[in-house]
Amino acid sequence: MHRLNTLLIHAGEAEPRLSGAVSMPIHQSVNYESIHDASYDRITYIRLNNTPNHEVLHAKLAALEGTEAALVTASGMAAISAALLGVLNQGDHMLAHNCLYGGTHSLITEDLPAWGINHDFVDASRPETWEAHLKSSTRVFYVESLSNPLQGVPELEEIVRFCKKHGLLAVIDSTLTSPVNFRPHDLGFDLIVHSATKYLNGHSDIAAGVVLGNKPHLRMIRHRLNHLGGCLDPNSCFLLHRGMKTLALRVERQNETALQLATWLQAQEAVQHVYYAGLPEHPGHERAKKWFRGFGGVLSFELPGSLTATQGFVNRLRLPLQAPSLGGVESLITRPAVTSHAGMTAEQRAAAGIRDGLVRFSVGLEDFEDLRQDFEQALYSQLLA
Ligand SMILES: *Cc1c(COP(=O)(O)O)cnc(C)c1O
Repeated sequence: MHRLNTLLIHAGEAEPRLSGAVSMPIHQSVNYESIHDASYDRITYIRLNNTPNHEVLHAKLAALEGTEAALVTASGMAAISAALLGVLNQGDHMLAHNCLYGGTHSLITEDLPAWGINHDFVDASRPETWEAHLKSSTRVFYVESLSNPLQGVPELEEIVRFCKKHGLLAVIDSTLTSPVNFRPHDLGFDLIVHSATKYLNGHSDIAAGVVLGNKPHLRMIRHRLNHLGGCLDPNSCFLLHRGMKTLALRVERQNETALQLATWLQAQEAVQHVYYAGLPEHPGHERAKKWFRGFGGVLSFELPGSLTATQGFVNRLRLPLQAPSLGGVESLITRPAVTSHAGMTAEQRAAAGIRDGLVRFSVGLEDFEDLRQDFEQALYSQLLA
């Protein structure tokens, strides 16, 4: 079995290459001739996610995560909704991490109950509290590998053990770790989802998602996705394929720069607190060190003072763009209190640890020294003026 960078370049590629094309061509055709076998199972069609552009991605992604099968989708949310609707039925119950991506939180609390699928939220870092939420109808335990924006690390091994003991499927959103930093299947997770919009593609130019797992689960999920319709179009398949070839180079550099920035920020008096699992002080550091190859490219930190003071700091930064999302080549900065978590009341935010001065930073591929100097001038120019 080849190593990560070799898999990124060669896994799943046609042998020999199609018409000799070194780069996988875009198959811009919705349907395909089926002269010899016209049965429904053999139909090739974009919505069925089985064109040559889909197949090469499925093989490459499965090789990266070490799973039997993979399925690309039109977005991360398409992957998450198809995965949950593929394995859960009316009357089923799921346990979910109490600190999830906003879209997933809304899917679980607003949409799934209308289809008869209910949930309990649990603290994924406190195993002793889980059993109390278990019902005879519980089928799934759903977590994120690194929580956003505070970079919490769940008790991942305990979750897998708990799921095995109680016959649940362990499902994980591994978007923030990416297959470079973590392979959840090696730990025993049954289903893995990613927003490929983030690190896998890495260039902030498409939305895409992926579900990974064993063949029987993926067959059910693919069947559901084929009906829901969230297929990835061939152009986006091509861009995701191209973006993924540099995944390891990008993520390894982002790991490095994020750790350097987190360490520098922590030493600044003007910064109150830094949330990054790569720092020994972070409560999830030991767990992250045990399971992850790197701590990722997202970090958060707190400035003292009001929303306005924090906005002033963000406005003084010249390099990072103020935009939601993460995982691209350009550094992005957001303030969770007024963006991702603006829908909560101030009390709810305080309970979740999201203070007004909190800033989330997604590290791009700029040079560390340029980012550091930019942070320095934004933190201290006020004081010097
Ligand atoms: C962005 C994101 C999603 C949703 O992905 P989309 O591609 O925007 O649909 C899900 N989970 C996590 C952790 C994310 O960061």
